[in-house]
Amino acid sequence: MDTLFLPATEENIKTAAGLLRRGQVVAFPTETVYGLGADALNEAAVAAIFAAKERPADNPLIVHVAERAQLDGLCHVTDIARALMNAYWPGPLTLLLQKTNRVPGITTANLPSVAVRCPRHPVALALLRASGVPIAAPSANRSGRPSPTSARHVLEDMRGRIPLILDGGPCEVGVESTVLDLTGPVPCILRPGAVTKEMVAAIAGDCAVAPSVMRPLRPGEAAPSPGMRHRHYAPRAKMTVFVGDEEKVIAEICRRYDETENACILAHENAVPAFGGRRVLSLGDTKEQGANRLFACLRETDEMGVSCVLAMGWDEEGVGLAVMNRMARAAAFDIVRCG
Ligand code: AMP
Ligand code: MG
Repeated sequence: MDTLFLPATEENIKTAAGLLRRGQVVAFPTETVYGLGADALNEAAVAAIFAAKERPADNPLIVHVAERAQLDGLCHVTDIARALMNAYWPGPLTLLLQKTNRVPGITTANLPSVAVRCPRHPVALALLRASGVPIAAPSANRSGRPSPTSARHVLEDMRGRIPLILDGGPCEVGVESTVLDLTGPVPCILRPGAVTKEMVAAIAGDCAVAPSVMRPLRPGEAAPSPGMRHRHYAPRAKMTVFVGDEEKVIAEICRRYDETENACILAHENAVPAFGGRRVLSLGDTKEQGANRLFACLRETDEMGVSCVLAMGWDEEGVGLAVMNRMARAAAFDIVRCG
């Protein structure tokens, strides 16, 4: 299959919408990462997403809508859900709600809940409106690879597998949406993102975080979100994350770097000079920049062919939890606490 790679102009968005209505798969930008979209209510179309990604069938998809009214008949919207939608939609917040029979089992991996989100990226919204269908869209990477934050990343993973990639430039947030389970007594974050625990609690009164967000699942432990069972975000190299006192972190990374062949450091911008002539990629100064650059940096270490990645982490406050969740998974939870 030839893959068209087109700028996200009005006309090309119309072309993409036509493909979606005919049950095809199209990649498009959202404010979090690029998505691989298809008509959420068309089983064959959704099956084509799983095939293109090589995604395990037990990992459900997020259903994107242009506005709340599009959820009518698809899921049961609770009062707390409505309040959170008022506060954070359109935006990087995915809500798990009880689904109806209209959502096919393949979209939700046969779970009784469906994940729904209204993205705020103008291209995603225009595509949703032009297609007129709810769009099931996981991240547009091949399963196991870091999520794509630019159209070029999508092309790397999806060339020859899908008919069209819409290029809308780099993503603003850079980590996937917050996944919030609203089917239990207390709202619970299954995947942290740019809408933080504090932001949810400010509206919902309370917010829990699933324990497996920052530690591996224990043998036999049920995964609250199927995505947590799968290896994720991983670069090809062996990765270790260092947190704690900055000076000690830098010293420990330098020590490991010097005794390892073919290593690369992911550093906070301000710390780059401290690593001297060693090979360093900058994650930026702030956690927000770290969220924005992490996946691109992981892909770059793949391209460089390094065998070891030594990364400076952040604390887990605010959006730091989202960044550290992705880093921890990329490192298979190899996290070193210094000082
Ligand atoms: P991605 O589509 O790559 O952004 O991943 C979507 C994430 O949402 C995965 O971690 C899924 O496991 C999670 N998810 C989607 N739908 C559900 C659901 N019904 N129940 C639990 N987790 C879900
Ligand atoms: Mg994904």
